[in-house]
Formats: sequence, C-alpha cells, structure tokens
Amino acid sequence: MADSPRDLARLLLGARHGVVLTGAGVSTESGIPDFRSAGGIWENVDPMEVGSLSTFVSAPERFWSFHRPRFSAVDSVRPNPAHLAVAELERRGIIKDLITQNIDGLHRRAGSPHPIEVHGTLDFGECLRCGARISREEMVARADDAPDGVPRCTQCGFQVKSGVVLFGEQLPAPAISAAFAAAEAADVMLVIGSSLLVTPVSTLPDIVLRHGGALAILTESATPYDDHCTVRLHGKAGVQMTEVLTALDDLGMPAAP
Ligand code: NAD
Repeated sequence: MADSPRDLARLLLGARHGVVLTGAGVSTESGIPDFRSAGGIWENVDPMEVGSLSTFVSAPERFWSFHRPRFSAVDSVRPNPAHLAVAELERRGIIKDLITQNIDGLHRRAGSPHPIEVHGTLDFGECLRCGARISREEMVARADDAPDGVPRCTQCGFQVKSGVVLFGEQLPAPAISAAFAAAEAADVMLVIGSSLLVTPVSTLPDIVLRHGGALAILTESATPYDDHCTVRLHGKAGVQMTEVLTALDDLGMPAAP
C-alpha cells in the first residue's frame, strides 16, 4: 500500500472529483482535543451526559457549563497547516467538496468556501421550542448574563441551543444529503483526522469504494478502512499535508493564483 505524501499527491492529481472528509484530528494541532485519542475530551466527561439532547432539556445549566467554555476555546485558536492545505487544494480545483464532522469553524476560517458541516456548528443559536435563531455572539452574551449560565429565547423563554448536533438529535438533512451526494460523485476521497467510527459519516468511504473510487486516509491511529486504502498516511495532519502540497509543486501542479 502506498504510504508517502508524494503518493497522495499523485492520487489527488489524477482525481476528477476529489473529496476531503475531516474529523476532530484535523484540529488537534490547533489545540482543540479530539474525542478518542489519549487526552481527548471523552477521558474526563461522559459525552452521553453533557452532549445529549436529554441533558439539554432536563438540566440546561449542566449542559451549558460544559458548552460555554468551548466557545472561548474555539475563539482562541487558529487554523493549522492541515486546514490551510485543504483550502489550498480547493483553490487549485483538486478538491471539489469538503465534508467535516467538526463544529469548530476552522475550515471556513482557513479559507474553505463552503464546508459541509454534518454535525452542525457553534456559529448560531436556536430555540428548540419556537425555532427563533440568534447569532453566536448573542447566544454567548445571553449565557454570560444569565445567573444560571443558560441563554434563553426572548420570544418564548425556552433555553437556546447552539447549532451543534447533540446525541439524540437528527443530523441536519441538507448537510447529510450533500455529504452523501459528494461521496457518490467522488472518485478519490481523502479522510483526515477521523477515526471513522461515528455513523453515518463512517459509511461515506464505503460508498466511494463501492463505485470504484479510491480511498486515502491520514490519521495517527487505526481506522476500520485501513486495509481498503490506496494511500495510507500516518502522523500529524499538518506536517503530512504540507508535504503533500510540496509534492504537488514538484509534480508540476502550480499554486493557485
Ligand atoms: P475521533 O476523536 O473519533 O478521531 C480522531 C482521529 O484523528 C483519530 O484517528 C486520531 O488518531 C486522529 N488524529 C488526532 N490528532 C491527529 C493529528 N494531529 N494528525 C492526524 N490524525 C490525528 O474524531 P471523529 O472521527 O471526528 O469523531 C468524533 C466526533 O468528534 C465528531 O462527531 C466531531 O463532531 C466531534 N469533535 C469535533 C471537534 C472539533 O470540532 N474540533 C473536537 C472534538 C470532537
């Protein structure tokens, strides 16, 4: 199995419809922990408790005491070389679609024009009872002003939820259909920083393989698809993706204007 950044550059150069799928591991070099690696978020909390719809409804103060610091954490970090490399591949026309499970907004901040955010985003707040939407800034300000730390809807008084999809909630239908359409169209899919254990995203590589497309994976740890890769890279996403860009330049693919 091919295993060098140059191999990945060659595969991407031959792609008609390249698609990138990212997970929490693309953002760890920015300082945001992933879920499953050592030191990841799930080592210290029970995700089913703090990240579930039922906790949001029954114990909103517990929910918001976990979620409020995540806004500040995301605001204080920057896109890393892996996010920047993905945006560069899009500018060069090599990557046509970017699907992300991340909610941190770092792909957009790196210059990716329209990431498909299948697990939602921290970027807005929504009242689950009446549907009123507010900006992220407004949601955070209301959380900080509330004695119990819970932002509330000014129209109906119910607690406001961020746009992040919780356990027990449906994934946003437009994003999930766009992700499946991208996988159907892909002749090359590059997975960066996802354990590929969370459904339904974990089924996307299977769609690509079933219609004869090629799969490349770049993660530090094993995934269920490792034996089905055309290219399998290990190591840090930022380092490896920077080398992929260098290899593309060597192979004669000029930088985007
Ligand atoms: P995961 O935690 O299950 O897997 C992360 C993968 O990335 C692992 O395979 C790990 O080896 C790899 N990895 C970690 N750091 C890496 C690096 N520097 N370079 C290369 N690989 C690296 O994450 P997942 O598959 O995305 O699924 C879990 C859920 O985590 C998703 O639903 C996502 O929404 C959520 N999540 C998002 C963020 C974020 O938005 N930044 C952070 C934590 C969790």
